[in-house]
Amino acid sequence: MDSFAIIVTGWFDGETNHSPVPTTILVEDGIIADIATGDHGDALAKRGAAVHRGGYLMPGLVDAHVHLFLDGAPTDGKARSEHLKQPLERLTEAARQSARQARAAGVTVVRDAGDRHGINHRIRDEARRNPGTMPVVRSGGLGVKRPKRYGAFMATDVGEDGDIHASVTGLAADNDEIKLILTGIIDFDAGAVTDEPQFSAEDARRVVDAARSCGRNTFAHCSGVKGLTVAAEAGVGSIEHGFFMTREILEIMAAKAIAWTPTFCPVHFQWAHPEAVGWSAPTVANLRRILDDHAHHLVMAHRMGVPLLLGTDAGSMGVEHGAAVIDEIERYVEAGMSLDATLTAATASARRHFGHPHPVLRKGAAFDAVLLAISPFDDIRTLRSPLGVWRQ
Ligand SMILES: [Zn+2]
Repeated sequence: MDSFAIIVTGWFDGETNHSPVPTTILVEDGIIADIATGDHGDALAKRGAAVHRGGYLMPGLVDAHVHLFLDGAPTDGKARSEHLKQPLERLTEAARQSARQARAAGVTVVRDAGDRHGINHRIRDEARRNPGTMPVVRSGGLGVKRPKRYGAFMATDVGEDGDIHASVTGLAADNDEIKLILTGIIDFDAGAVTDEPQFSAEDARRVVDAARSCGRNTFAHCSGVKGLTVAAEAGVGSIEHGFFMTREILEIMAAKAIAWTPTFCPVHFQWAHPEAVGWSAPTVANLRRILDDHAHHLVMAHRMGVPLLLGTDAGSMGVEHGAAVIDEIERYVEAGMSLDATLTAATASARRHFGHPHPVLRKGAAFDAVLLAISPFDDIRTLRSPLGVWRQ
């Protein structure tokens, strides 16, 4: 039996900070065999366990919204469109690198929010065989969208006359979740979402019902009141982005337990680096207003009991796999969320939403964890340089 013990100065179980509380965590064959207060290292060493002392332990981070096949590092529009034109093998290699990068940063689960080639499925399989270098990949495969509407890089078309049930059932065979593209991107110059939702509430509900009949949850890409209303009425599993949120929509989300992944990162990047896109001063002011409104509604959502996830949209311009999770954590804290609630969104809430058998670190759970030098409650910057990462 492979056994080791870590004696930490404190730990976060996924919901609660236990710090400073010296604690011994014993791991046997990848499973947490015991968690005990105090330093029991000497006794465990005598029984043959390897013992490591020091640091702060928390569950592996979950990025609930990434696009593995996209590289967030290039911020030049031309370089970004060239990236998409590369042959499949090159894009697959990019996805592999993204996964490794996330894992090295302490991210042990990612939910891929779609790519039109199904590269995410392939990386999911590779990641199963490479727990030491890649996170668990929850793959959205291809999402569903309407013809000639936004989302061609990540979704397949379902026409007005198409059979939604058949399309979704087909996708559900391989997709861990079904992604529904409801609206396009935000018009930052206008400071609004200007397009009409791609699906009516009735059709969106057909997608949700078809997915559910296959045992699959749904996640909806949408922003703007019209799209959000459709998503909330259809009862999707989670709303992604959700800019221009309102209290009324949050009330429906709380009542139906619809989760929210606000993805501050891509908008924050464009606000912080307007030169990358060439935004004018009025547009930068729009970006700031949109971000502030988003932050206000995030805190409101938390108070109202809306399940919160934390996702980055990594792969978007300036949003780098791995590091972006810590950026997004900083956005939650800046918004006024406590660090406990923020880290819960980044760990236990996501695992619970994904139906994980052990959403928090406890005896009997798989050892899926990040070791930090010190408590992030003392200095949040410690999240940026994990000392060790273990994946289930
Ligand atoms: Zn996305």
